[in-house]
Amino acid sequence: MSSDVVSSRPTFEAFGLGRDLLRALDDCGYTHPSPIQAETLPHLLQGSDLLGQAQTGTGKTAAFALPALERLDLLRREPQVLVLVPTRELAIQVAEAIARYATHLAGVDSLAIYGGADFRAQVNRLRRGPQIIVGTPGRLMDHIRQGNLSLDKLGTVVLDEADEMLRMGFIDDVEWILGQSPAQRQVVLFSATMPAEIRRLSRQYLRDPAEVTIAVRKADTRRIHQRLLQLHAPQKLEALHRVLEAEASEATLVFARTKIVTAELDEALEARGHRCAALNGDVAQAQRERIIERLRNGQIDVVVATDVAARGLDVERISLVVNYDVPLDPEAYIHRIGRTGRAGRKGDAILFVTPRERRLLMAIQRLTGQQLEPMALPGPEAVNSKRELRLMERIRQQLGGHDVALFERILVEFCKAESITPIRAAAALAQLLQGERPFLLSLDDQLSMPQAHGGRDALLRRGGREGGRSERRERRPDRREQSLAADMDRYRIEVGWKHRVKPGNIVGAIANEAGLQGKAIGRIDIFAEHSTVDLPKGMPGDVFAALQQLTVVDQPLRIRKLQSRRETTAA
Ligand code: AMP
Repeated sequence: MSSDVVSSRPTFEAFGLGRDLLRALDDCGYTHPSPIQAETLPHLLQGSDLLGQAQTGTGKTAAFALPALERLDLLRREPQVLVLVPTRELAIQVAEAIARYATHLAGVDSLAIYGGADFRAQVNRLRRGPQIIVGTPGRLMDHIRQGNLSLDKLGTVVLDEADEMLRMGFIDDVEWILGQSPAQRQVVLFSATMPAEIRRLSRQYLRDPAEVTIAVRKADTRRIHQRLLQLHAPQKLEALHRVLEAEASEATLVFARTKIVTAELDEALEARGHRCAALNGDVAQAQRERIIERLRNGQIDVVVATDVAARGLDVERISLVVNYDVPLDPEAYIHRIGRTGRAGRKGDAILFVTPRERRLLMAIQRLTGQQLEPMALPGPEAVNSKRELRLMERIRQQLGGHDVALFERILVEFCKAESITPIRAAAALAQLLQGERPFLLSLDDQLSMPQAHGGRDALLRRGGREGGRSERRERRPDRREQSLAADMDRYRIEVGWKHRVKPGNIVGAIANEAGLQGKAIGRIDIFAEHSTVDLPKGMPGDVFAALQQLTVVDQPLRIRKLQSRRETTAA
């Protein structure tokens, strides 16, 4: 953020913040208040209620945390400030920010309370009388009901990301909690948007509030280079692979609509050698924290998340957000892309859009007031040149490896004995590293994208229909297309799980008849009444004829080669 701030603005001193807080801000490297801070600090320090329209990334956490800390009675060991947030991640993040700002203030105790964490441990911590509590509504209510937490002495309640709490169905809980706090408390409400329900809440619970709106949306998303990739649903997985390979991203966050898709993508990406993890509602809290930490410290580079699981995620390394599925709610798009471009950095965002999602795209463009820039799918050349560079980088990193000298000696002897050049030996080692999978994408591996049928904006003009693809295909990554290697052809056989066939039956029969080694037989996908099997390209005619005569589990195979890529994916 600091790069946005101009030096003619007042400094933090001018607002009358105490010395210890100023020192902490200095430690954090904040030179000037952000606009939302400059506008809200005077009101909040006076104890006024406040209605703030601002998003994550504007510095709103410090805007409410600094006055709260300034006004804290450090001698009283009881809850004085309650911050309500929609998610566990945000609770942790806000509590961490508060702890950072309070570094030099002796005697401040703040605590994050959220579901999924150990209840007993929270009870024990609550007994120590933390002055600031940051929590999600459900777990807070449990503690209040059980008498572990009293809000009687609360001076300030902050509702952070109120619209998100509304969206997640927490508003009744928020009102219940507000009802447990003293009538005279200060209420601060921050929300990225102001739907009618949030307006009602503010009318009902805020007294004569100061109103502050920070028009960050356009300014904030301007730092993020937003592009649009038009494709058909079955192409998404391949497109994701290529984008991840071709884009120079430090860490990438991929958004999918459902947790099933996050898990499937995680699996597919891992199979291609990405260091990745899925973040969805099924991931236990401790595990989520580990994932975020590993993303932060560079142990993983790709996280595939649902919208809810990624709320509040603040990791500076994320330089690319891929919207694998278009969000149904355009507001969610802004939240998603806001996960990159953190702390004043630049960020990239790519939105995958299928023809049937045109309306969603329009809604997003209306909301952000920006046209997304169409991009082409990275072609085999782009991907391949990145692969070569990455291989060279991997080699470079190993030059100082502890056994390199030893290998050098072995290779010298080997080259002499075999009369080959060291380069050839090194190339064979690279092949060993690569295994069976082709190192390069085949140059004719061009996917036919929607714009190929009539210019890059064809999708925008043609409207919603996409040649009869099923809803299921729309949402799921296509595992079959994923694995059709360049040196294989895909065949269809008329035996499926209804005939109780197992992959072993198919491998056994084909291996015997075609004289192929089992491992030369590629991917097999079994469907209800048929299956597909990948076999090496260039099968001799007589072998094929023999396979056509074959029966497996008493079913004639009636094998036939699938011709087009479209046919191979629709089989
Ligand atoms: P927030 O909107 O609270 O999530 O803050 C967004 C980011 O801005 C966080 O990384 C903060 O550490 C950072 N930040 C907050 N206030 C300032 C400031 N006055 N100067 C520089 N960075 C800030």
